[in-house]
Amino acid sequence: MIKRLFRKVFGKSRTAKAAGKAHVIPLREHRVARDGISDSAQRVTDGLQAAGFQAYVVGGAVRDLLLGCKPKDFDVATDATPEQVKRVFRRARIIGRRFKLVHVMFGSETIEVSTFRRAMEVDEAETDAHGRILRDNEFGDMEQDAARRDFTANALFYDPATQEIIDYHHGYADIRAKVLRMIGDPEVRFREDPVRMLRAVRLAAKLGMKIDPATAAPIARLKELLRNVPEARLFDEMLKLLLSGHALACIKKLRFKGLHHGLLPMLDVILEQPMGEKFVMLALQNTDDRIAADKPASPAFLFAALLWHEVLATWKTRQAAGERPVAALHAAMDDVLERQRAQLAIPRRYDTVMKELWLLQPRFEQRGGQRPFRLLALPRFRAAYDFLLLRCASGEVDAALGDWWTEFQEADEARRAEMLQPDSGAPKKRRRRKKPSAAVQAELPID
Ligand code: ATP
Ligand code: MG
Repeated sequence: MIKRLFRKVFGKSRTAKAAGKAHVIPLREHRVARDGISDSAQRVTDGLQAAGFQAYVVGGAVRDLLLGCKPKDFDVATDATPEQVKRVFRRARIIGRRFKLVHVMFGSETIEVSTFRRAMEVDEAETDAHGRILRDNEFGDMEQDAARRDFTANALFYDPATQEIIDYHHGYADIRAKVLRMIGDPEVRFREDPVRMLRAVRLAAKLGMKIDPATAAPIARLKELLRNVPEARLFDEMLKLLLSGHALACIKKLRFKGLHHGLLPMLDVILEQPMGEKFVMLALQNTDDRIAADKPASPAFLFAALLWHEVLATWKTRQAAGERPVAALHAAMDDVLERQRAQLAIPRRYDTVMKELWLLQPRFEQRGGQRPFRLLALPRFRAAYDFLLLRCASGEVDAALGDWWTEFQEADEARRAEMLQPDSGAPKKRRRRKKPSAAVQAELPID
């Protein structure tokens, strides 16, 4: 009560008061001006502060701005409870069961607002036999909120009103020195949440930072703990890693730290492709390049690439056993998706797009009659064509096929007519199908 009153009266010195024993770094030193923060994030901190609460931009965004990178998104931390946050904004909803967060929406941007929370002491938290925390849902204060974060670089608070940074763990100096350092005892913190080992590797690769030796040391010893992490969580982290824009660098680092074999099934798939290694590496490079160029990169495309050579091999085996090509391809896709489900935990929601990309591949071979025009008109053409180019670049199919499609897309009507090949290979009449469910399936040529 008194604290609140105090805060209201001395509103202007809020940052300094809240910071307590933290370092307060002024604008002239750190040089991240308020306009580096998105309008929506500013509206959230302004709104909460006007309502008498503390509110800061926190975590990855502050770190990225200090490193001169564009933040992916902006998170806000506050002393307001989720219900109090919701009351301040018109479009806000509370999400999460274990720990409630608030999503505040402005147009297409969503700002995630979390209430300060504290990490529970290991002896009061529920942990598994290896020290992994199973529950940590207690509200806390700002200092505790800093302490529960993983790396010092991730524990900075930025106040857009004063343009000051509040630093409890020397994160500012670590960022300047490009060192990724765990807050607290690294071994304890990795045991609490083994995914932090992957985060260390991903963030170091993405940000060009060195993992502090004391932070890196226990990883070799503790890596087996990744086995206890729920599959879905591991999948989410792998996805972040693959879409970090630095997938290749991350994978090299993980391999170097011995963090893949048997621990990260997705990486075993990437690194143990006797036939398709070049293809998979090109797909990852392609994803990194797209992200660097601010283009969207689709997880389904990447997964389709990771599994392509397995689909090819299974398809071949089935055909050799006498199955007809189309049926064999469908069956091969289902086999591979079923197998990966147990191993990689790629969610089913990606299946449709992956299958479409695979099914469209044989159709690129058909370059006569109306077929190329129909293929070109499909919504998924562009992605399937990119996939084809990767296959060409890896040497799996003749580069001339990719070149043909590159030219055909650009060519005028006359040139297209010249380019079309005699339609001899394809069946003259397509068999009527009872239910032409998807355009893709109805047109598979190789029958
Ligand atoms: P990215 O740029 O990939 O978003 P990030 O550091 O912002 O990186 P998020 O997963 O968005 O990663 O997490 C936001 C913040 O939450 C982090 O900066 C960190 O402070 C904290 N955090 C996230 N994961 C953990 C974890 N496993 N343990 C402790 N703190 C974490
Ligand atoms: Mg983030």
